[in-house]
Amino acid sequence: MTRDGADVVIIGGGVIGCSIAYHLSARGVRVTLCERETLGSQSTGRCAGGVRRQFSYRRNVEIQQLAVRLLERFPDEIGVDPSFRRTGYLFVLTDDADVERFEGLLGMWRDCGVDDARWVSTSEIRELTPLLETDGVLGGTFCPSDGIASPHEVTIGYAAAARRMGARILEGVEVRGIDTRMGRVTGVRTSAGDLSTAAVFTCAGAWSGGIGELVGVSIPVLPYPRHVFVTEPLTRIPHDHPMVIDFSTSLYFHPEGGGLLFGMGAREEVPSFATEVRWGFLEEIGQVASRRAPALLDAGVRTGWVGLYESTPDHQPVLGPVSALEGFWCACGFSGHGFQQAPAVGLLLAEQFIGEEPRLDLAPFAPERFARGLLIPEHNVV
Ligand SMILES: Cc1cc2nc3c(=O)[nH]c(=O)nc-3n(C[C@H](O)[C@H](O)[C@H](O)COP(=O)(O)OP(=O)(O)OC[C@H]3O[C@@H](n4cnc5c(N)ncnc54)[C@H](O)[C@@H]3O)c2cc1C
Repeated sequence: MTRDGADVVIIGGGVIGCSIAYHLSARGVRVTLCERETLGSQSTGRCAGGVRRQFSYRRNVEIQQLAVRLLERFPDEIGVDPSFRRTGYLFVLTDDADVERFEGLLGMWRDCGVDDARWVSTSEIRELTPLLETDGVLGGTFCPSDGIASPHEVTIGYAAAARRMGARILEGVEVRGIDTRMGRVTGVRTSAGDLSTAAVFTCAGAWSGGIGELVGVSIPVLPYPRHVFVTEPLTRIPHDHPMVIDFSTSLYFHPEGGGLLFGMGAREEVPSFATEVRWGFLEEIGQVASRRAPALLDAGVRTGWVGLYESTPDHQPVLGPVSALEGFWCACGFSGHGFQQAPAVGLLLAEQFIGEEPRLDLAPFAPERFARGLLIPEHNVV
């Protein structure tokens, strides 16, 4: 603790950094958050807003259960409506092995309290989403209480609540160096001057690997550009149409502003920080959509953008303190599901930081797991 500094400096003001800033401030920790652009302007501001409990790794389901409870009480606790619309989340399956795996997961989801997740037949899928072409569809899983929330409201809500509790939230301030002495963090160097601190949280999303390099810590997070498009308004889409994911192709869509928001992973993905829209990618999506959701082809595309997934080798986040450098904490590498995990992860890391017994153990996500070869794959990523 220092007079001119902070107990904790958070590097990055996306949804993760802002959630941690709030949960630490609520526990009396003096926080300074440095965001080099504007709050929520990077991956967070470009994400699809999906919130679902249908993960393959049990701890992710538990984290997501907690996150959903926190989103439910967000208006009372944070004073902002996170626009959490529980329109449901449908995984559409076309592969026998996936059918077997998802059927097996239903029991675990219910065990974790996700009581309304259920198996749906092809004809039920047709009722849930009239836009889907069901040739070759074997069935799917549906959870009506999953849904979509607003990344903007959640991020800005946490930042404002953290400020009210005394956090300093700085925009346009880049962290350029981290000072250490005798194996401990002692300060950060920023574009706006130096700050003394005994702890930093790396919440720099796709850029987190570069923050690790400042202190010789390997954080295996790579950037993968992902396209999102939004169509012109369509008449056939009910407002409560669920989020639909065609699991084997990763094509997904949900209602947005009277039209549809849709996206898909590219066939061949290479790490890159490029975020210009490749309009030609619409052709690759079109090939899949012509088989699975032809309505997308009829709709004019109103806008598109690219955001970065921040992926790790096992598609799981990197969470907690780095044992080789005291005071250096990670909260990054969410591999495309960080928005929905942010409320819970912020709370759990804040509890761990102040020495409370966290209600869910984050040890499986420890930064050292890569060096130890203890990867914990999450299969339900798109
Ligand atoms: C197309 C797309 C769709 C997605 N859909 C979903 C979804 O449906 N559901 C879901 O849960 N997740 C989704 N995600 C993933 C989700 O957006 C991310 O996991 C989440 O936003 C990560 O938040 P973050 O705060 O870690 O990263 P970011 O929002 O990227 O924030 C990191 C911040 O760090 C700042 N920064 C970097 N370096 C420095 C530095 N040196 N100094 C100061 N600041 C720095 C950056 O400017 C940035 O603002 C999607 C992502 C994409 C791209």
